Order: sequence, then structure tokens, then C-alpha cells
Amino acid sequence: MNCKETRKNIEAFVNDSLSVKELEEFLEHLDNCEKCREEYDMCYTVFMGMKILEDVEKYGNTRLDSEMKIESAKDYLFKYKIIRFQKILLYVLICLVGGFLFF
Ligand SMILES: [Zn+2]
Repeated sequence: MNCKETRKNIEAFVNDSLSVKELEEFLEHLDNCEKCREEYDMCYTVFMGMKILEDVEKYGNTRLDSEMKIESAKDYLFKYKIIRFQKILLYVLICLVGGFLFF
């Protein structure tokens, strides 16, 4: 993902509407690109500011913490990968057990 694509995806990221693949590329780019990281920090603050204005009651306790958002996204990605790995493992296990019972 290049800078232009990354910046275009900032809003989608803040709204949690990126696909897992996009999310992965987005986070990777932010880790390696100071400029986009700054852009993201700024946009995040603006987006969250707007959300807070829209619903003060609901978002009253939301911190304007762009770092936290990145960390939780990484956490999500990490869990997603583990779950996917477990599914593959389970599938292999079922095949093995199935094969074992069959023969
Ligand atoms: Zn960039």
C-alpha cells in the first residue's frame, strides 16, 4: 500500500471498515511511514472529535488516543491470525482422525 492509498484508507480504518488484508497493509505502512502516521494522528483526532460532537453521551468517555486505536487493531489482527491458524489445525486434525478411523 502506498502513501496515497494509505491516506485514502484512514477514514475506513477509523470506522473499522477495512478488510483484514487492507488492515494489515495499512498498519504496516503506518509503522514505516512517518508522514502518513502524522496524517493519521491528525485525522483520527478530527474523526473522533466529530463523533464526540455527534453523540456526547455515548462517546463522552472516549479518549482521543490514536495510538490506542492502532494497538487494538494490531491486537485484532493478531487474534484473527491465531483463529485462522486454529481453524486450519482443526481441519488437519479432523482429516487425520478421519483417516485414522477409516483405515
Ligand atoms: Zn506513507
